[in-house]
Amino acid sequence: MFKTNQGATQNYWVKPLTFATPFLYGESLTSWLVRAALKHGCSPLTFTYYYWPQYRIWTYDADKGFNHFDEQIISDIAVLTGHNVDTFDDQILIDFSKDTSVVLDKKTPLQWTAPLSKRNRYSRLGYPYCPDCMEDDKEAYLKLQWRFTWSVCCAKHKTFLQVDCGHCNQPYQPQLLSPEQQFINRCHACYDKLDQAISGIKPSETLYEFQKLADQAFFSKQGIVLGQVVSMCQWFEYLLFLINLIRRGLKNPNYMFGKLIAALGIDTTTLSLPKTALRFDYLPVDERTVLLECAYHLLQVDTDNWIKVCLDLDITQNSFQWSKSTITPKAFSDVYDQLHRVPTRRYEVQSEDIKPASPEVVMASWNRLKRKMQMRENYDKHKKS
Ligand SMILES: [Zn+2]
Ligand SMILES: [Zn+2]
Repeated sequence: MFKTNQGATQNYWVKPLTFATPFLYGESLTSWLVRAALKHGCSPLTFTYYYWPQYRIWTYDADKGFNHFDEQIISDIAVLTGHNVDTFDDQILIDFSKDTSVVLDKKTPLQWTAPLSKRNRYSRLGYPYCPDCMEDDKEAYLKLQWRFTWSVCCAKHKTFLQVDCGHCNQPYQPQLLSPEQQFINRCHACYDKLDQAISGIKPSETLYEFQKLADQAFFSKQGIVLGQVVSMCQWFEYLLFLINLIRRGLKNPNYMFGKLIAALGIDTTTLSLPKTALRFDYLPVDERTVLLECAYHLLQVDTDNWIKVCLDLDITQNSFQWSKSTITPKAFSDVYDQLHRVPTRRYEVQSEDIKPASPEVVMASWNRLKRKMQMRENYDKHKKS
């Protein structure tokens, strides 16, 4: 079992909680703070204000941890839970781009993390949860794993995760619960239990297999790409590259990458692109699911097959430079290095006329606007209630 925190704490008045609330294995910090508050008959806001009055904790994403602004907070939480402070080392969101668990910035969205889009204490996007895990009042808690965007279903129940309440469709916001609701498995808006699945669809076996593989790469801090063992960061970088490749392919099924992914076994005629052109982490679960299933398929393509199909389609190294900022992942270099490189040509600026946007770009921006309006509407409803 856990050891109690032996380290000295400056907040000498912080003592273990009256009603013991142990930090559960795999739990998120948001979940523990909310459970501890409700167990002591107060709101999450009152609880965090009592212990850390100098910070407005709920305006931040608590799952990032607090070490980027005050290391004392996690030492205090260790005392309150009765655990060793090391318990929390692997229980925070991480920065994949830096290959480290140090999060430097409070506000920057982290890659592979479901955003909450905070406006003060209010989240414009709900906290991901499994409706089946929410059935039992006393057992319910939120898992950190659900915050990662490759997680689209619950590993225990094989149920799709969701972010809105199944009764009133408002985004789930555990930090806004009040003491009367007593348990974390309640909706702050309609007070109902969050055990109602919004979609009747069950995840496919393929998706479930993919998620297990991604979890394995995350927990073991390494994975396999094109037959080579690579670091966790490189594995996820490759996965994102495949997702972007699929998005490009689906956008223009008759063009190069459309033909490439079709030749590698993806049926581009039946799949549709995400409605918005938002980055992967901002897409809803159903759209992420489609992309992840396709990416899982491409993850299993070996080096020889990649090279053969690219050469057949005259795909060069330059083809992968689809924007100025594109970086071809290191893990893909066995394929990339075998492709031709065409000397780059410089184009003269031909005209300064503003080109009209394509219908796809207009539709994507319209769908982004509709999404923003829906978030705004939910926020306004929340303000009035
Ligand atoms: Zn579950
Ligand atoms: Zn509700």
